[in-house]
Amino acid sequence: MLTFDRAELPAEAETLRAEVREFLKSNSARLPRPNSDFTTGHDPAFSAQLGARGWIGMTWPLEYGGRGRSFFERYVVTEELLAAGAPVSAHWIADRQSGPLLLRYGSEQQKAAYLPGITRGESYFSIGMSEPNTGSDLASVRTTAYRMGDGYLVNGTKLWSTDAHRNHYMVALVRTEPASDNRHAGLSQVLIDLKNDGAQVRPIRNMAGGEDFNEIVFTDVLIPEDRVVGNPGNGWEQVTSELSYERSGPERFLSAYRVFVEFIKAVGKNPLPHQSAAIGRITAHLATLRRMSISVAGMLEEGKTPAVEAALVKELGNNFEKLLPEIARLALSGSPPSEGFRQAMTDTLLLSPSFTLRGGTREILRGVIARGLGLR
Ligand SMILES: Cc1cc2nc3c(=O)[nH]c(=O)nc-3n(C[C@H](O)[C@H](O)[C@H](O)COP(=O)(O)OP(=O)(O)OC[C@H]3O[C@@H](n4cnc5c(N)ncnc54)[C@H](O)[C@@H]3O)c2cc1C
Repeated sequence: MLTFDRAELPAEAETLRAEVREFLKSNSARLPRPNSDFTTGHDPAFSAQLGARGWIGMTWPLEYGGRGRSFFERYVVTEELLAAGAPVSAHWIADRQSGPLLLRYGSEQQKAAYLPGITRGESYFSIGMSEPNTGSDLASVRTTAYRMGDGYLVNGTKLWSTDAHRNHYMVALVRTEPASDNRHAGLSQVLIDLKNDGAQVRPIRNMAGGEDFNEIVFTDVLIPEDRVVGNPGNGWEQVTSELSYERSGPERFLSAYRVFVEFIKAVGKNPLPHQSAAIGRITAHLATLRRMSISVAGMLEEGKTPAVEAALVKELGNNFEKLLPEIARLALSGSPPSEGFRQAMTDTLLLSPSFTLRGGTREILRGVIARGLGLR
């Protein structure tokens, strides 16, 4: 069953919104080409500035560098950063999902070792789920980490790992026991030090000309046993719980937001009737998705794991992200586009094929939703 609990942003979250806007205004020089896609813009100095303000890992306990703030407050910070097109990719995955994963399943030693660096905006993580023959069918991963003395010997290949060439660590889903009839058994998550463990990281060029994702090859990479996250064999439960964090945030419907901003600037104060209708249509989509995403933030705040609701936010949000440039383009056709609109459109259209792939494809999400509704 799908349940979207009613949730409102509390007053302190709105106070924080004003602070974030002020910060972004005074740092506008760091946004020469704003892009609301969370994977664009890798700026460690900017991430460190956010860390110093307490805006990374902000829901985590104080002892690990967190600020003990609510998921609603985190929601507002992420929403404002994306809407402004700020360069957030360096710390994004660590803040959104690797940190929360360690907080929930990691050992005390792991939490103390990794979380404070994340909250300072200095330590960046990649996701190591997909492989050359494993994407949608995640349980079929073939990378192995078998016991060897006091550690684990890792062999295999991970693919499409965002920013692995720039990030410090990866949480990799691996097989620690040979495959059996129970496909979800024998999987574990391990921490890889991307700079020091000896993994080979090869960037892959994307259609927009950037090098954001990578192939990572492990050939007899030996890691110490304290790098296993949670209990060995518990990888499937952990990786699926991680996806609730991955799929529900505003980055799943705001990737094309700068196109909307430039569209509104381009039509000016006196839009034609069909342009007003386009603004209304986009706003209605945004308002609905936002309420759903805030509801998921509220459920995370209560310690729930709203995996199906998160899948629905991502599925509807990704479709909207692809629809937005199309609505704007049609509504502006006939008028020469402004330079800002042209730039935002170019950047967004080159990235948009990935919106419905990364974090789980449309078909897979629809399957998750159908199962949640008891339809399969
Ligand atoms: C920009 C970008 C960044 C990414 N970053 C990361 C990352 O950081 N870490 C990471 O681990 N992965 C990452 N990925 C990989 C992403 O998660 C996978 O591409 C995605 O899960 C699909 O897997 P696949 O590419 O192997 O395609 P496949 O699983 O081979 O799917 C191919 C097509 O078949 C369809 N299909 C597959 N199975 C079914 C089914 N059962 N029913 C119906 N249709 C089906 C799919 O929907 C898809 O259209 C990234 C991908 C992109 C595009």
